[in-house]
Amino acid sequence: MPSTFIDTHCHLTDEPLFSRLPQVISRARQLLVTEIVVPAYDLPSSFAAARLAATHEDISFGVGIHPGWLENKTFPESALRDAVIELKPAAIGEVGLDYALDHFDPELQDQALERQLELAEDFNLPVIIHCRKAFQPLYDRLKHFPGVTGVLHAFNGGPDFAEKFLELGYFLAFGGGVTRPNARKIRKTALMVPADRVVLETDAPYIGSHTVPKSEMEPAVIPLIARAFAELRGWTLEEAACRTTDNARRLFKLPAMKKTGENE
Ligand SMILES: [Zn+2]
Repeated sequence: MPSTFIDTHCHLTDEPLFSRLPQVISRARQLLVTEIVVPAYDLPSSFAAARLAATHEDISFGVGIHPGWLENKTFPESALRDAVIELKPAAIGEVGLDYALDHFDPELQDQALERQLELAEDFNLPVIIHCRKAFQPLYDRLKHFPGVTGVLHAFNGGPDFAEKFLELGYFLAFGGGVTRPNARKIRKTALMVPADRVVLETDAPYIGSHTVPKSEMEPAVIPLIARAFAELRGWTLEEAACRTTDNARRLFKLPAMKKTGENE
């Protein structure tokens, strides 16, 4: 039986995916994308992701506060800790630093990141990291948490930063970017990432691929991303599926054989 795929980052709680969920999931299964990790960006999306996971056994989820949510708001420290205790997520995320936002407060972002890394440490959970234009401050923060690892989602920091995050034990996630011939930094990083540290993601509906606009992104696009990655590395599609699925299971501590309904 061919290996299945895992979409390690897809916002199924958001439109247009949420209202088309049955079709989105069935198209994904037809293409062997049998498991999906749904990150959150605030408290409501954390609860929404948990509700999806409660009714779909092939969906796992994160609980976390995205840096983009923080502007002019107070970080909900105790409510977030309560949510982790109540919802039992597979990860803390997505969290991180985003200096590409129009208005951002580096201090506030760093504090929220630090609090959430503490949560990851306390509950022994991986973190899903979002980072734009802040790789050095991100590294400076992460290195203070040697007991925590996770994934740098949609990583575009280039090979030198990749090396540093890999040394800390992090995985790197590749999505639509790797399908774009002109995405030089991402493709260079794809060439150097160790085979046991790469995972795949769509980040649907927020990042498109070379041929699929972001409005049409969904987990069923994962094999196309896997093919682009495999071609770069000289792997077969099956190798890409096997390795990235195995890596995603280790990263999120997913059970080895989740039931997939149609594939039993
Ligand atoms: Zn995301």
